[in-house]
Amino acid sequence: MRILVVEDDENLNRQLCQALTDAGYVVDSASDGEEGHFLGDTEPYDAAILDIGLPRMDGISVLEAWRRESRMMPVLLLTARDRWSDKVQGIDAGADDYVAKPFHMEEVLARIRALVRRAAGHASNEITAGAVRLDTKAGRVTVDGQAIKLTSHEFRLLAYLMMHKGKVISRTELTEHLYDQDFDRDSNTIEVFVGRLRKKLPDDLIQTIRGLGYQILAD
Ligand code: CA
Repeated sequence: MRILVVEDDENLNRQLCQALTDAGYVVDSASDGEEGHFLGDTEPYDAAILDIGLPRMDGISVLEAWRRESRMMPVLLLTARDRWSDKVQGIDAGADDYVAKPFHMEEVLARIRALVRRAAGHASNEITAGAVRLDTKAGRVTVDGQAIKLTSHEFRLLAYLMMHKGKVISRTELTEHLYDQDFDRDSNTIEVFVGRLRKKLPDDLIQTIRGLGYQILAD
């Protein structure tokens, strides 16, 4: 899952990126509204964390522009604690949720988890496919109740496919959502990871749809 962080406070930006990376997300960051708007408009994100007070273009204008351009990823706004009018304006502009500063990092992570999950149509942190159970909060995978060890790349790939089970996901989509913008996007990498996942999971879990991509069948 790929997340965009738009925050001009350098320290806070770094802390958010670190916490999200530690939680297994791929993170791009911007430190002003124009750059943030550009990234959100051109790269596919599963969610964005957007500060309201930003140089060059304020967060509300960024959000309004994204929504006008039909960029519908879930957006978590960062607001100043006592500015209730910001929250109202933000929600009117199309924000999905907000957190008031100062916040606990755990709260931001929980809200992002919920937004990403809801956007993919899941009500809980656990997603199952046959004997496979994936816990997006704990970062755990079990098959028939037995824990399976996955690398972070393997986990992300499996989580993305399970979040979108029933849909055919192209290699391009996987590459775009699993790696940040600086990654050397070689589609063979995805094939290698899928091959490794297949060795650790039930054979028929990840189907190859020739010429289109991969799919985990809906139950
Ligand atoms: Ca700010």
